[in-house]
Amino acid sequence: MPAEVLAQAAAEMLDWHGSGMGVMEMSHRGREFVSIYEQAEADLRELLAVPAHFKILFMQGGGLAENAIVPLNLAGRRAGAMDFVVTGSWSQKSFKEAARYGPVALAASNEADGHTSLPPPASWRLSPKPAYVHLCSNETIHGVECHELPDLQALGCDAPLVIDFSSHAASRPVDWARVGLAFGGAQKNLGPAGLTLVVVREDLLGHALPVCPSAFDYKNVADAGSMFNTPPTYAIYMAGLVFQWLKRQGGITAIEARNRAKAALLYETIDNSSLYLNRVAPDCRSRMNIPFFLRDEQLNAGFLAGAQARSLLQLKGHKSVGGMRASLYNAMPMAGVQALVDYMREFEKNPR
Ligand code: PMP
Repeated sequence: MPAEVLAQAAAEMLDWHGSGMGVMEMSHRGREFVSIYEQAEADLRELLAVPAHFKILFMQGGGLAENAIVPLNLAGRRAGAMDFVVTGSWSQKSFKEAARYGPVALAASNEADGHTSLPPPASWRLSPKPAYVHLCSNETIHGVECHELPDLQALGCDAPLVIDFSSHAASRPVDWARVGLAFGGAQKNLGPAGLTLVVVREDLLGHALPVCPSAFDYKNVADAGSMFNTPPTYAIYMAGLVFQWLKRQGGITAIEARNRAKAALLYETIDNSSLYLNRVAPDCRSRMNIPFFLRDEQLNAGFLAGAQARSLLQLKGHKSVGGMRASLYNAMPMAGVQALVDYMREFEKNPR
């Protein structure tokens, strides 16, 4: 979370704009909260240039619930399988979960190289008429990012592309002409945990399987303006403050340029070192999540302790991968990355 946003939320916590109540105390249908909601939605639509024929839904359940909610809504659209491109742990989970709701097919996988590459779209083995094609556009754990979304039409496939953009939403523009549905938990770039963003093309609404819970039927949620049931009001308010902060930074193009510069500095430091190593193919290295290893694993504990002493926190890699991982979400300033690379260079000269 940007520090500015946290300070603003703290200042407004007990009394929002002279209303005599805090946001958590408001009715979700009251004038005050509705104005917060409408502003947040309008700001997000503007920031991400979401076209008018897409609905923005503010839901709950996180990325993992969407692994079920997407098939519950889209598997029944037509008879074909749901196709999956597996590029790391998160798309693997999506693939497994979807199989509970209908036929699935594996279109491509990078498992053989330990999730360090992105299979080129031309090599994907798509089903004849898939219900949809799922891609995790940024694999948070393995640090693999799809920098240019595939053009399914050009591959002769008329199915909608579904992207899990949980861990890089709002870090760069989205090419909506190539996307049918995008979903993501808010807790990386958008706001606090508890809010899930779904952006869905209108023609994909209204096809939910009969067993789909009513509160997770995208059509119900869209028709009710995300108020089919009580939405996560405080998380929506916080996300709205983040969207305004993003606009003050110059919008998505400006934040993307900053993200590129931050990631380039860290990758350069890793690649120019004889101690640190990143195994991801250069054309699909994530700008958000950068896993790296110390060639001498015995130095891991010392590296982390030294980092902690400098307030460089949460650098321990995911347990399934090991090593280190730096997450450079939107709110991480360049100064934070500079402090990390300064420490990495110092540690390399004098490891202990
Ligand atoms: N997809 C991706 C790409 C993620 O990074 C995560 C969480 N780290 C998830 C899904 C799961 O999200 P949640 O914890 O919100 O269910």
